[in-house]
Amino acid sequence: ESFDALGLISPLLAALQQAGHKRPSAIQQQAIPPLLEGRDVLVASQTGSGKTAAFALPILQKLSQTKRAHGPRALILEPTRELAAQTAAVCRMLGRQLSLRTRVVCGGTSREQQLKSLADGVDIVVATHGRLLDLVMQGDLVLEYISFLVLDEADRLLDEDFSESMNALVPYLPEHPQTVFCSATLPEPVMALAKRVTRDPVRVEV
Ligand code: AMP
Repeated sequence: ESFDALGLISPLLAALQQAGHKRPSAIQQQAIPPLLEGRDVLVASQTGSGKTAAFALPILQKLSQTKRAHGPRALILEPTRELAAQTAAVCRMLGRQLSLRTRVVCGGTSREQQLKSLADGVDIVVATHGRLLDLVMQGDLVLEYISFLVLDEADRLLDEDFSESMNALVPYLPEHPQTVFCSATLPEPVMALAKRVTRDPVRVEV
């Protein structure tokens, strides 16, 4: 199998080559085609499987083929600031040949600075839920154009604070963005959240 055969566009193939990723991992082989087709995907796998690129590549491809909006079109939720920074770095690296703007929204930096980084437009927001909710509730960030939603490491997202944030964010989100749900494990409470946020997902695991 090659990335080419998965239907990825040449700017992404070039970035993959530059990154030294010669062929798709098992998770990427299974997840990329349904994501390009517009399906929701439930990824059950550990870090190290290449899951970040598995959702980043289709998002980058789809966003590069559609018009910019007055707000982000993809929202990736992460359990920690560190993971948010890492995932944003992957989006930027793989999207280096596309004119898409990736921004991190999370605590630990000043609110002002965060707003400044969003001011000239943003396509992909990688966020932790606290600061995200703050900006959305204050009207500083609109989620109405979100067409992709990723819950990354969902088993680690699952606590009371996160559930409250999710409940508060739902009214600001479009009804059915294409959704990727990633989790190392799928015990019952995690599956319950997956069922709530995905529609007829393709399940991929290795
Ligand atoms: P992840 O599971 O997304 O945290 O990725 C784990 C590591 O695998 C990262 O260092 C990636 O850069 C790397 N990686 C992702 N996809 C590939 C690939 N197709 N070939 C080789 N390395 C990859």
